Amino acid sequence: MQLGGIHHLTAVTTDAAANVDFYTQALGMRLVKKTVNQDDVSAYHLFYGDELGNPGTEVTFFDWPQFRIAPNHPGAGEISETALRVPDRSALEWWTKHLTDHSVNHGEIVEVDGHPSLAFTDPEGQRLRLLADEGEGVPSGTPWEGSPVPAEAGITGLGAVELTVHELGPTAWVLTEVLGFRRVDEYADNGGRVVLFGVGPGGPGAEVRIVERSDAPAAHLGRGGVHHVAFRAPDDEEHAAWGNRIRAYRLGATPVIDRFYFKSIYFREPGGILFEIATDGPGFATDEDAEHLGERLSLPPFLEPRRAEIEAGLTPVATGGNTAPR
Ligand code: ZN
Repeated sequence: MQLGGIHHLTAVTTDAAANVDFYTQALGMRLVKKTVNQDDVSAYHLFYGDELGNPGTEVTFFDWPQFRIAPNHPGAGEISETALRVPDRSALEWWTKHLTDHSVNHGEIVEVDGHPSLAFTDPEGQRLRLLADEGEGVPSGTPWEGSPVPAEAGITGLGAVELTVHELGPTAWVLTEVLGFRRVDEYADNGGRVVLFGVGPGGPGAEVRIVERSDAPAAHLGRGGVHHVAFRAPDDEEHAAWGNRIRAYRLGATPVIDRFYFKSIYFREPGGILFEIATDGPGFATDEDAEHLGERLSLPPFLEPRRAEIEAGLTPVATGGNTAPR
């Protein structure tokens, strides 16, 4: 039994319209599903990904404007950076100019974990990094042909997630002992210890980096922060087995929850970060035609009877930009 890498990442926005605009128009990802948070139907849940939102390519957002949620407080006990894959260094050079043209804060092209990369933040301060995978790692996704970003520079999936914790040991133990990750590299950065882990096929798409910062304040989730990361299970049988395994380690996994587009199990690792195991299928084309993903509000069948009430509680978000790139 082996996890296939990173499945998706879920973060927090307080401005769904601006979020859609940035991720589809500036980053060129496809809005593959516009639905609601199944545990709070007053909130949009927006999914961005490759042409079909294949597992390993999805970045998703809960929209929580009604809480006037404060900015994320960085620190220990959070996902502190997320890498998005692009093909190569020349793509990063394209992105350097593109991000500058869009007034997006970004750094220089630097090597991270053996690959050229470019750090940047979204308009709410979400910490992101474009990583040139140079053909390595999990098979990457295919950028949507309707994307305003040229295909040769297009984002093809998630690279690595970075976890910042007070103490390396307990989180590393969960990754290696419980989830089957292996230690790939270790180095010092700004005086702190950094350890890179890989799982399944390894490389971009299947890596987690832990940064140990014993003196960091505790992180507080807010807008521009990350809610959780999900790892890939290939089918329902292995997914259920992961749940049993995590519970056997007394890590308090939830039962299997059917999210309609995939099945989920959640647990919090000892460093305070929420982990999910999600099935690769059935995917986003189960209730919408692949040509029209994300254009209307999708609801799983158990919420469909409440559509009128749910739609009345949401501020409409124009997603025309999803189909008509400017
Ligand atoms: Zn999730």
